[in-house]
Amino acid sequence: MREALHVLAIGAHPDDVEMSCGGTLIRLVREGYRVGVVDCTRGELGSRGNPELRAREAELAAQIMGIHVRENLGLPDGNIPLTAEAVAALVRVLRRWRPQILLLPPPVERHPDHERVHQLVRMAWFHSGLAKLVTTDGDGQPQQPYRPRWLFCYMQAYEFEPSFYVDISDVYEQKVRAVQAHASQVYVPGVSPENEPETVLSRPEFWQLLELRARYFGTRIGVQYAEAFLALGPVGLPSLSVWLKEPDSFPVERG
Ligand SMILES: [Zn+2]
Repeated sequence: MREALHVLAIGAHPDDVEMSCGGTLIRLVREGYRVGVVDCTRGELGSRGNPELRAREAELAAQIMGIHVRENLGLPDGNIPLTAEAVAALVRVLRRWRPQILLLPPPVERHPDHERVHQLVRMAWFHSGLAKLVTTDGDGQPQQPYRPRWLFCYMQAYEFEPSFYVDISDVYEQKVRAVQAHASQVYVPGVSPENEPETVLSRPEFWQLLELRARYFGTRIGVQYAEAFLALGPVGLPSLSVWLKEPDSFPVERG
């Protein structure tokens, strides 16, 4: 059996995870945890770029983040189907990598693909734990049932009141480089292709918006930069000592 991942982030398009929770993943990698990303589509309907270029960009971003696994399910961009086959593809992913924490898009989003991936992951998360639902991986052997312990939504276009924030101050620059890897989508002077249609992401202002949001979330927990998450169920802590083990890494209120 493959070595399991600690954390798996699932996104609809090849740059979604970097933008919304890339800093959180980079931090986990730096702490020594095994992290993976699964993109559901190749982003072939994107106004800019093409699937081959976007696959290379995703690979480069994976290297920059230092993650251990990146896969693409090849579902149709713009029309991700809520079918038993698509759920089964995600069940195979969950049983293959057995992550303890699963990150997914939020339930209400501007892009319908994001909402569809939310629904698919929720269904796959539940089905994956059902012993009588049999799946096989590439080797033809039956997979063992498995259900990740934690399910958290990262934030995309629409804002929600977060359940918690993650401090990404010391990895923010690395997150920016991972997003810059997607130069067909975002504005990178001298690298981004010219003569492609302009989008919200391809304007220079995109970088200000990315930083503004990270800075604002940071101010809410007293750090420089942060990313926001929504817990779908109650969150339990083993002890309040999780906030005592690394006192220097958490903000101290100063009058
Ligand atoms: Zn997307």
